[in-house]
Amino acid sequence: MGLNSFFTSACNYKRVAAVFIMLFVVSCSEPRDVLYKEQIFVFGTIVEINIWGQTQKAKQAAAVITEDFRFMHQAFNPWQGGSLSRMNEIFPTKFAFSVSPTILPVILESKELSSQSNGLFNPAIGRLVKLWDFDVATLDATALDSNLTLNKKIEKRTPPDPKLISDLVLKNPTMNNVLIEGISIRSDHADLALDFGGIAKGYAVDMAIQTLQEFGIDNAIINAGGDLRAIGQRDNHNWTVGIRHPRGKGIIASIEINQDESVFTSGDYERFFEYEKKRYHHIIDPRTGYPVEDVISVTVIHPNATIADAAATALFIAGPQQWHAIAKSMGIKLVMMIDDKFNIYMNPAMAQRLTFEPNKKFNITLSPPL
Ligand code: AMP
Ligand code: MG
Repeated sequence: MGLNSFFTSACNYKRVAAVFIMLFVVSCSEPRDVLYKEQIFVFGTIVEINIWGQTQKAKQAAAVITEDFRFMHQAFNPWQGGSLSRMNEIFPTKFAFSVSPTILPVILESKELSSQSNGLFNPAIGRLVKLWDFDVATLDATALDSNLTLNKKIEKRTPPDPKLISDLVLKNPTMNNVLIEGISIRSDHADLALDFGGIAKGYAVDMAIQTLQEFGIDNAIINAGGDLRAIGQRDNHNWTVGIRHPRGKGIIASIEINQDESVFTSGDYERFFEYEKKRYHHIIDPRTGYPVEDVISVTVIHPNATIADAAATALFIAGPQQWHAIAKSMGIKLVMMIDDKFNIYMNPAMAQRLTFEPNKKFNITLSPPL
């Protein structure tokens, strides 16, 4: 055997050995889990279904969830031809009618959450929200930034007529003006219209997680434009998720998820316009009729996505002075608020959960425990 052919056969030997070793490793290990991903554009945002492992079941579950999301997107539109818009047409007549079974659970939950928030979370101000006309649900994918988060500055808009705003504030429809008996519903307030923009995404995420669990799927994240609920783990490690920076690009902090938790953020950057150098955004204080001024984002962690969504909206309106009291009355245990001067307020338990991005300085005020 010449030197050359010795090297050739040695190399062949090595190659064969390598193949054997690879086969051995593959046959000795468990089948590799994979991350199954699907995206749909609903509720004015990209909803991402992420399922770890169980690919066959994952595909089936994702198909059901996609259908459900599309259905809810239509059903919860307050003005354009779904179940809720039909209800909003009938409410001013004060006649009783049959409540849509899709909407009823959200109405019942909203009554409770609205009362716990002292009326700051008030889905009964649908007419006021319509007057401001941010119409988040009908946005298309161009409204999303590179984090797939809604981030849309609307050009050339002016605030509505102050007289129309103050009239609706004085009329003050609340969730107590929605009266339910069995499946019969009516309003005793001629100016009530329901807008579930502050809670429907959370409810849809909870429904999706329930579907996954019915399919026997234990490890997943349903992420609706940065608002999410995660269950289980990924590859035996806890899921880690980011909280979007309310002004710059990227994230401000990250959180490791404990088994089953929802992380929801309300921000003034999702839908807004500027008029005479002032920002007007889509979260309306029902006491004034105007967008909240001194807060730019609020993040809530809670096991239930519906509650996390409504609470983030309510605490945004509560502001730096009242958020702690309202969080207590809503039973919320983990909150971070960022004000317009970039001060961060949070409770000590939240501070323990967050890992802030390095090289960024924040002025953090810790509240008493919740
Ligand atoms: P979120 O991004 O979850 O804070 O929800 C904001 C959306 O909730 C807005 O686009 C409106 O549809 C709706 N909304 C605005 N103000 C309120 C309020 N005070 N109570 C309940 N929903 C509101
Ligand atoms: Mg909300």
